[in-house]
Amino acid sequence: MRIVLCGFRGTGKTECGRLLSQLTSLPFLDTDALIEERYKKAIHDIFAGEGEETFRDYERQVIADLPASGCIVGTGGGAVIDPRNVAALRRGSTMILLEAEPSAIEQRIRHTTRPPLTTLPFRDEIRVLLEERKPAYTRAADFCIDTTTRSPNEVCLAIMRILSEGTASPGAGERAIRFLRESGIPDDEVTAFEQAAVSGDPKTRLFAIAGNPALHSRSPPLFSQLFAHFGLNCHYTRFQAPGIIPILRLCHDLDLRGLSVTIPFKHSIMEHLSEIGPDAEAIGAVNTVVWCGGRSYGYNTDWIGIRDPLADARGSNAVVLGAGGAAAAAVYALTSLSMEVTILNRTVSAAEALAGRFGCASGPLEAFDRVNPAIVINATPVGMEPDTQSPLKKTQLKPAMTVFDLVYTPPETPLIRLARNTGCRVIPGTELFVRQAAAQFTQFTGISAPLDLVRSMLS
Ligand code: NAP
Repeated sequence: MRIVLCGFRGTGKTECGRLLSQLTSLPFLDTDALIEERYKKAIHDIFAGEGEETFRDYERQVIADLPASGCIVGTGGGAVIDPRNVAALRRGSTMILLEAEPSAIEQRIRHTTRPPLTTLPFRDEIRVLLEERKPAYTRAADFCIDTTTRSPNEVCLAIMRILSEGTASPGAGERAIRFLRESGIPDDEVTAFEQAAVSGDPKTRLFAIAGNPALHSRSPPLFSQLFAHFGLNCHYTRFQAPGIIPILRLCHDLDLRGLSVTIPFKHSIMEHLSEIGPDAEAIGAVNTVVWCGGRSYGYNTDWIGIRDPLADARGSNAVVLGAGGAAAAAVYALTSLSMEVTILNRTVSAAEALAGRFGCASGPLEAFDRVNPAIVINATPVGMEPDTQSPLKKTQLKPAMTVFDLVYTPPETPLIRLARNTGCRVIPGTELFVRQAAAQFTQFTGISAPLDLVRSMLS
């Protein structure tokens, strides 16, 4: 067993780490103390003499060399900002985030001798750094504990309870098994869930995809492979139902850690979340939910999977075919790259409505030839198995075009085949799937999974 405590300065990592060490008879290793010991310098001297970058290098080395098990680890407040540290710390561990209100932190560290990390006044530095680091803390932790009104003893007891009992409500695992059976999840997946959520280790963190349908999704096998690759004590399953409410009730009772969201819930889930990221808010769709400390955070990673393969085409003239959810993510991605976007759709009023939100041009599908775009994105289901149509004819394509088909079943769609034969640069929908999944994995765990690793797991 390895327990890692992370969080801002003044949240009680050192004190709780020492108390946990007494309770468990495992040694307590404080990464700041290990840095001072290894490099024979006080932390403030490293900051003053060699700068923060060198300190972060030392910290990374010390974290990489920690024992793999049999210890309690306390990390420096900024350690989990680096995804490499998160990957090293999380392997085989239970990671616990200690949180506190800024006023409590200020009270606890007001006599510190540590040098400031910014030029801001003490109180402002706490608030600004906390806000900056919150996403990294939220991603990296298995469990979150608010220490604002708790003594170190109470925090330790809460941690011991989590380690021995987990955080699901009584009977939640059994209720979830009935739900999975009723929605037609294959028996082997129900058995694996039963082992993870009911009869197995209470520290196992649970994830799922919510959709209708969800049975076809490639996310469960992908995330299971990623969790195994990075040594994470996590399990991923599927929740399929006609409505989002019963799924969210299940997520609450199981204390789910993260949820992938697909059709038809990407918009309807938004009103049930505590906080929505600015990208998801602008797109009007959430495909990723993370729970931490009783609050739910909604994000959109689809647009990242559209933006990144087109990052070298900044400022181009683009057409998006379709005006649904995927088209909204595409338009957001393209406008973030300063592209001039025209939305063309079967139902023109839907294209106009989407164009109105983003300040783009719009029209019917027949207007394609008048636009002569450099970038074409298909955000309609045309060409998705079993359909064998292409949304554009060969005569409409030109070799200078980049054609990105968001449809990914089959991997080579009729449109991609036509575009390839014309000499266009082509981007298949699998690329969006890979990149949105990698970004979602980072939201779920704080770890950056290399894209080639994700691609190899899907092939
Ligand atoms: P959606 O919200 O239902 O929107 C579908 C859009 O396609 C609408 O604008 C609709 O036009 C148009 N459309 C539907 N059938 C059409 C047809 N036969 N001819 C012309 N236009 C048609 O769906 P969505 O969530 O945006 O998804 C769109 C596609 O993107 C799906 O095929 C999905 O598989 C793909 N996608 C892929 C990924 C990935 O990871 N690669 C992620 C998300 C989505 P009307 O307004 O006229 O109905």
